[in-house]
Amino acid sequence: MHLAETGDLVLKPMIIETGKKNNKNILNYIFGAGSISELGSILERTSTNKDRSAIYIVDQFFEANLESLGKLPISGRDVTTYVNTENEPTTDYVNGLIESFLTDRTEEPFAVIGIGGGATLDVAKAISNLLTNGGHAEDYQGWDLVRIPGIYKIGIPTISGTGAEATRTCVMTHPPTGIKLGMNSDHTVFDQIILDPNLTKTVPLDQYFYTGMDAYIHCAEALNGHYRNAVGDALSSQVIKLCREVFLSDDMRSDENREKLMVASYLGGCAVATTYVGVLHPFSAGLSVVLGIHHGLANCIAMTAMGEFYPREVEEFWRMVQKQNVHIPRGVCEGLDRKQHDLLYESTIIHEKPLINALGDRFKSILTKSKVKNIFKSM
Ligand code: NAD
Ligand code: ZN
Repeated sequence: MHLAETGDLVLKPMIIETGKKNNKNILNYIFGAGSISELGSILERTSTNKDRSAIYIVDQFFEANLESLGKLPISGRDVTTYVNTENEPTTDYVNGLIESFLTDRTEEPFAVIGIGGGATLDVAKAISNLLTNGGHAEDYQGWDLVRIPGIYKIGIPTISGTGAEATRTCVMTHPPTGIKLGMNSDHTVFDQIILDPNLTKTVPLDQYFYTGMDAYIHCAEALNGHYRNAVGDALSSQVIKLCREVFLSDDMRSDENREKLMVASYLGGCAVATTYVGVLHPFSAGLSVVLGIHHGLANCIAMTAMGEFYPREVEEFWRMVQKQNVHIPRGVCEGLDRKQHDLLYESTIIHEKPLINALGDRFKSILTKSKVKNIFKSM
């Protein structure tokens, strides 16, 4: 064990055993403003059969703004589905999409192309896996349950922060149990991604901050954890540096900053793929599952109550909020009843790996029920 330093962050002793031993990265990526124009040639290289069709899974924002994606190589045989992002993806939603694809056509598509935020990219990953593996989305929620590779999948993020473009999971809530869990599998990793910072120009200010902070938070939690490794640390410290440059600047959405945040998101996804998040994400998951608050905003709300665990990050977070003049709702857990607090506790404490990463094996004796309740009430 040793103490390491990155910039002004003093790290906890590192446990070399990461729990994740063999990491898969994205095989191919293109980066640069305007790079979405490469999609056509990538698809041509993927299949020489001109009669085969592709499935486009596109964020609903682009239904009325398709021109902002440039000229997409969509042919008459292809299917385009717009993802409703009002609610975060559920297994039912994904199962419904699969059912409609299977009803409408008999032939297997040669590519699934996801264009959008974390929600849309996750839906695209799940669709690709299910089209070849069969069954229902919930059958594969967990670790390494996807048996065979999915359809060739391409991810094109249009908002930066979650790192969903880089990770081996696609997060969905299963409504009957309320469990929010992904298909964690090497087969979930995109075969190709296109990182085009032009695509994030239209993201509204608050949303840009909420989702962008996900990258900062993933890496701050990873660096403050016990389960670390040299690769994860190197990536995470670079992500923190980039996020500081973006969120402490005068215009977080300048061309240069949108480019930096897209890189931070991607590297952050690669970083957390090698280790775990910490205390904040379990609390954020509680807010999402019980109160339906979306991931990026839920993270920011949870951050306001993390002073005990991440004091330096909380202080830096508020400086970024002030600098960018972003609205962070307060008091979201005021007036909740006992049943809702019980649910919040259950859906937080269930995230054992991140909590062990942050607090050690005895995390339940630190995060007692009354403590968890007080933390939620202070948000
Ligand atoms: P999101 O995908 O819901 O998008 C946020 C909002 O931004 C939506 O309203 C969307 O329509 C809009 N939007 C997207 N691109 C836009 C653009 N270019 N212009 C204007 N509006 C645009 O949210 P998110 O924060 O990107 O992703 C959150 C989801 O990602 C959650 O479901 C979370 O569970 C998941 N997630 C997945 C991973 C992973 O590794 N797979 C990691 C973190 C989070
Ligand atoms: Zn996250």
